[in-house]
Amino acid sequence: MFEYAPAPESRDVVDIRPSYGLFVNGEWVDSPGGEREKTVNPASEEVLAEFTMATDADVDRAVTAARAAYDTVWSRMPGRERAKYLFRIARIIQERARELAVLESLDNGKPIRESRDVDLPLVAAHFFYHAGWADKLEYAGFGPAPRPLGVAAQVIPWNFPLLMLAWKIAPALACGNTVVLKPAETTPLTALAFAEICRQADLPPGVVNIVTGAGATGRALVEHPGVRKVAFTGSTEVGRQIARSVAGTRKKLTLELGGKAANIVYEDAALDQAVEGIVNGIFFNQGHVCCAGSRLLVQESIEGELLDALKRRLATLRLGDPLDKNTDIGAINSAAQLAKIRELSEAGEQEGAERWSPSCPIPDKGYWFPPTLFTGVAQSHRIAREEIFGPVLSVLTFRTPAEAVEKANNTPFGLSAGVWTEKGSRILWTADRLRAGVVWANTFNRFDPTSPFGGYRESGYGREGGRHGLEAYLDV
Ligand code: NAP
Ligand code: MG
Repeated sequence: MFEYAPAPESRDVVDIRPSYGLFVNGEWVDSPGGEREKTVNPASEEVLAEFTMATDADVDRAVTAARAAYDTVWSRMPGRERAKYLFRIARIIQERARELAVLESLDNGKPIRESRDVDLPLVAAHFFYHAGWADKLEYAGFGPAPRPLGVAAQVIPWNFPLLMLAWKIAPALACGNTVVLKPAETTPLTALAFAEICRQADLPPGVVNIVTGAGATGRALVEHPGVRKVAFTGSTEVGRQIARSVAGTRKKLTLELGGKAANIVYEDAALDQAVEGIVNGIFFNQGHVCCAGSRLLVQESIEGELLDALKRRLATLRLGDPLDKNTDIGAINSAAQLAKIRELSEAGEQEGAERWSPSCPIPDKGYWFPPTLFTGVAQSHRIAREEIFGPVLSVLTFRTPAEAVEKANNTPFGLSAGVWTEKGSRILWTADRLRAGVVWANTFNRFDPTSPFGGYRESGYGREGGRHGLEAYLDV
């Protein structure tokens, strides 16, 4: 084992204000009636800043500003002009990538290695990609002159705060819509930093509005009658409520909800490579990933060998300070999420599965959960059925490919899946039968703005990214 010296990224590159207002019509505004909340660093429980809980009246102000910007400026601007703004935003994100990565890790708890090497490059890539579409929409396959919709209401979760913002805002603006976005209550800071970037890019006022708050602000936003498009990423439960509230209106809706992905390892798979893929599948971002490979389906003949290799690998993962460049596993985003992970893990033990974690020192302060493996998991166990959204892997076994497919599909979700085998024909045979929006073969958790992402069944509907993702923001 290597000894590692601490390698912390400097906090000096970020400039966090003590208190934030709302970003409406290109200005920072105070809420007349809104309460204040604090956002904390989940690795230390230190308060980072105060932000505003936007009221119904604030949401109305933001939607009105977005509508005015839509009518007078943005929907009339030629696509090639809109593209210039998106390219400018993408370049500013690249220039400020280090600062944004540190800010994301501070507010969310994810390791700097991930915010720096995964989140931020993808955020910039989403703006570059959609900048490229802005003047080519007539070639996207949605008719000769596709029109935008109007104001898009966008509500995002806390697991990839800035990346989810990019997935939402980039296609909306490229297609000529204006936006009111609500970040999650525990991670508002990078969305507020993005508001500054909009000003830096000279984006016309009102094209992007950021309203912070909790569930009530989100509800007011999606229910606002001035909204023409709702895009939501989060839990299936809230997604259901939103679908009900939008039913019978003219609003167009896309939902990106939870998952319980199967990661299938056949006996002929390259084992070391599969172990890396399993680790990336469930321990990336502390398992706070909707498409996480949270159910490992391993062929019975290699179960012992694979689990031995996996345990050896898990023992090398380093948990701790998210700003340390050697950290693999950061902090759990909130006390509430930690409680949920603990509850489901205890249920796993009570229902008879066997729990294992490597010996792993846990810091005194902050919210932490060690990488955890459950073996002897039955399909009826809660840890095999419910989304844990934490660094917890449930291991099941299978004997034949048909059994693997049946078990993989035995879930109300359908967001993603993985297949590990040396045989191309087996990859195709399996992928054909898996009911999941994304199937990764001999890899996992790979994202690209050109590739559509989205689910089946309780994982939601609609696609984000790629040509397909444009449809959600066009009147087609
Ligand atoms: P959530 O409660 O669905 O929250 C997602 C977003 O919706 C947040 O901005 C939230 O605000 C907002 N919201 C809450 N209630 C709302 C309502 N009635 N109307 C409109 N917006 C509302 O999800 P979460 O609390 O972040 O996490 C809960 C579970 O959701 C997780 O444990 C996981 O199972 C799932 N999840 C899935 C994804 C995914 O990418 N598919 C991402 C995150 C979470 P506040 O955060 O301010 O309350
Ligand atoms: Mg926070």
